[in-house]
Amino acid sequence: MLIVLLGPPGAGKGTQGERLAARLEVPKIATGDVLRAAVRDGTPLGLAAKAAMDRGDLVPDDVIQGIMKEALTGPAAANGAILDGVVRTIPQAEGLRDMLASVDRELDAVLLFDVETEELVRRLSGRTTCNACQRPFFGREPGEPCECPDGTKGILIRRSDDEPDAVRKRLDVFKAQTQPVIEWYRKNGGRVIAINAVGTLDEVEARAIAGLGPAR
Ligand code: AMP
Repeated sequence: MLIVLLGPPGAGKGTQGERLAARLEVPKIATGDVLRAAVRDGTPLGLAAKAAMDRGDLVPDDVIQGIMKEALTGPAAANGAILDGVVRTIPQAEGLRDMLASVDRELDAVLLFDVETEELVRRLSGRTTCNACQRPFFGREPGEPCECPDGTKGILIRRSDDEPDAVRKRLDVFKAQTQPVIEWYRKNGGRVIAINAVGTLDEVEARAIAGLGPAR
């Protein structure tokens, strides 16, 4: 199954994406994770993306198209993928549609995570993230060790774009540039499934699975 996760920053796309990927036995592809790894490794991609990411702005569409293409045409995604944060603008949605059409594939569903802005601000301002496995934590401090699933000894950090100014910017960017993508999918025949993304991790996962239905 090929599923796009759409929703504002802090809605839980990454966490639920991990769960869905494990359940459906497909990889999770997150452009944010790819970009953060590139920044950490100091690659040309990372150097080009860092300033925009730190401000809470989007990186240019052509950069994202390149990442999408590489991730989706590889063997790992042959049976599908969970695309987390990969589509954030209408040109990116069009690019993904065209790229999939060229290999005779299409999206199965767009899973929309619904969370109030106040809850998002509360979540993001209390979030730390592992610098290795990239999992988010709430109620844990920067500098604490992470228990990464693969045994790597990661350290919890505060993402620079989780600072208050960047959080506000990311929420504005979501409203201006990503919200219209939801309408674009509705108009262009996408199967958009909206779920209430407030609740325990198990509750939200159950809603996602119920929303995807037996076709998954
Ligand atoms: P995320 O981890 O999904 O919150 O992404 C972190 C940051 O990476 C975003 O605030 C953007 O600067 C950048 N980014 C990730 N995915 C995209 C995308 N599809 N389009 C543009 N910028 C992106």
